[in-house]
Amino acid sequence: MSIEHDHTRTHRLDLEDVTLREWDCTVLWSDPTDPEAGIVLDRSAFYPGGGGQPPDHGVLLWQGVQTRIVGTRKGDDLFLLPAPGDPVPPAGTAVRGAVDDERRSTLMRTHSGLHVLVGTVFRDFGALVTGGNMEPGEARMDFNLPELPAGFKQSLEDADNAEIEADRKIVVRTLPREEALAIPDIIRTQSVVPPEYAEMRLVEIVGLDVQADGGTHVFSTSQIGRVQITKVESKGRQNRRVRVKLTS
Ligand SMILES: [Zn+2]
Repeated sequence: MSIEHDHTRTHRLDLEDVTLREWDCTVLWSDPTDPEAGIVLDRSAFYPGGGGQPPDHGVLLWQGVQTRIVGTRKGDDLFLLPAPGDPVPPAGTAVRGAVDDERRSTLMRTHSGLHVLVGTVFRDFGALVTGGNMEPGEARMDFNLPELPAGFKQSLEDADNAEIEADRKIVVRTLPREEALAIPDIIRTQSVVPPEYAEMRLVEIVGLDVQADGGTHVFSTSQIGRVQITKVESKGRQNRRVRVKLTS
């Protein structure tokens, strides 16, 4: 849910166009003797992971072979991790990159769905996020919610789906840090305060929620589809864990 900055050599196509799934690029760096070190591209649409959203999967096609990409490694660059045993393209190789559309599109819907959940819980119950985890199609979020109102689970599910059906626009923009922090309630997570960067990338669900965020999102809430709150659990005296999944 938090913002993710990077200063790698890789041009992040995913930040410019979240619908891009295929592109041409060149390998800037790899170590064929150590495939696990990863592959650095000059241009990449692979979401590297961060802010709670897992990395993309996909494939690099080059010279008649394919390299499956199964994750990323953090470092000075954006290192794409090949599937064990797959060939690794050497530096200078022209490759065609492709992101696994089903995984990424489901993660976009899931991530946007979590922002609807966070916005709704804050608006209706005044609770902040204390943690969370996201997989394609399902997630859990922890909230600081000492008192659990009667009928919480159903009323939250109903409110969530009402906001989704309202088809609220989801807008991504970058603002100077001071301007961003002046927005009321910009920080919805209790423990995560954005680091000292000059600019902040904001994801706004118009009329419901604004968060500093580095992830990929759908363009309006109706694209999330229906959600179901599958479970509400106690995690200590202060916290409640809400489990949610996409049902369409
Ligand atoms: Zn987020």
